Parts: sequence; C-alpha cells; structure tokens
Amino acid sequence: MCQSGESKPEAGLHVSSVMDTQCPFCSVQCKMTVSTGTETLAGIIRTVYKAEGKPNAASQGRLCIKGMNAHQHATHAERLVQPLIRKEGKLVPVKWEEALDTIASSFSTLLSTQGADAIGIYGGGSLSNETAYLLGKFARVAVGTRYIDYNGRFCMSAAASAGSKVFGVDRGLTCRLADIPLARCIVLAGTNIAECQPTLMPYFHEAKENGAFIIVIDPRATPT
Ligand code: SF4
Repeated sequence: MCQSGESKPEAGLHVSSVMDTQCPFCSVQCKMTVSTGTETLAGIIRTVYKAEGKPNAASQGRLCIKGMNAHQHATHAERLVQPLIRKEGKLVPVKWEEALDTIASSFSTLLSTQGADAIGIYGGGSLSNETAYLLGKFARVAVGTRYIDYNGRFCMSAAASAGSKVFGVDRGLTCRLADIPLARCIVLAGTNIAECQPTLMPYFHEAKENGAFIIVIDPRATPT
C-alpha cells in the first residue's frame, strides 16, 4: 500500500511484452498471442497475462479454457525454476552447471558400464517440433539408445493403430476441417470433441445447421 505523501503508481494496464505462440494441449494447436504487463489498481501493482486467439486454419482464432490458461504452466508460483539433486535423501536446489555435470557423468558411467540401452529418454507431447527433433537426435545419435518414448503412448497409440488399420493413416483427420460443414452424415466414434478439442465444435454446429446427421458412438453421454 502507498503511504500518504508517496506518489501513487499510474492506474491502468501497461503491456511490457507480446509473444506469438500456440497452445500445447491438444492436436488442434490453436495459435495465440500472450501479452504480459502490469495492472495498477488502488495503488497496488500486479503482473497480468492475457491470452488471445490468433486466426489460423484450424481453430480460426478460437481458444478454449485450456489454451486461455496455458501460460499458467510458465508462471505458476510452484514451477521449478532451478534443478534439484537428491543429496542424502533430500532434494536440494543446485546450479545448472552442477546439474548438467552430474547428468553427463552419470550417463558416461552408464554408457561405459551398462551400454546405451541402459538409458531411456522420455519426451512429452507438449514439446515443439524442433525440441522433439533434438530430443530424438540426442537419444538415437548422441546417446545411442533404442529406448525413446513420450507421454502420448498412453493416449495416442491406440488411436494411431486403429487409424492405420482403418484409414491407412497413423492419426489425424481424414478430411479437411473446411469439409465438415459440407458433410451429410458424420460419425464421431470414441471422440469427445466438445470437451477435448472444443475449438473444433463450430465446424460440427455448422454441419448440423446445414442438415447433417451426427452420430456419436461413446460408452458415456458426453457434451458432444
Ligand atoms: S482446442 Fe483448447 S486445448 Fe486444444 S489447442 Fe486449442 S486451446 Fe489448446
């Protein structure tokens, strides 16, 4: 709080940075702009973030609640911002140099004593294409392990196997999104688009308005 006689910060919103990015949470990969700034209210200054959808071919500028709040991963107060090493049973914050030296020396020891396949590399579906490429190169070329996987194994491999068998494509759509409103009958099998990829729902609403039959096959009644 400002004391009497001190100059009060100027009220209002001051944007300090604007970044173009995309939501990492689902396959729609909605594009957005995240602005960072400060807001002054009643003499109190707080940092604010604002996510706005950007026009793009898939979501046409829409964002769902997950995308609107995706930046909270980076800004959350409990986010780890420095490495931890377990020492005498306790996780202790250390400098990056120490963490990287520890990893390098542990990997070297494993490589020379157990071989490359003693090391497994695990990525994440939220990695960008470029980071995923680098991780793959690191695993296969630098380390030489055949064990590399990612968290999508749990949610996507069943869909990929079924997609390959039925449509001959690993995953993804079998038509352009722009074709959906033109369809006369749409079968949504085992997919809850309204909750999992909500920014695509307007395509299906438009199809329904155009008279399409929409058949949803799901063991649960979902918003879709
Ligand atoms: S539909 Fe939602 S979760 Fe999926 S990419 Fe867009 S904003 Fe993210």
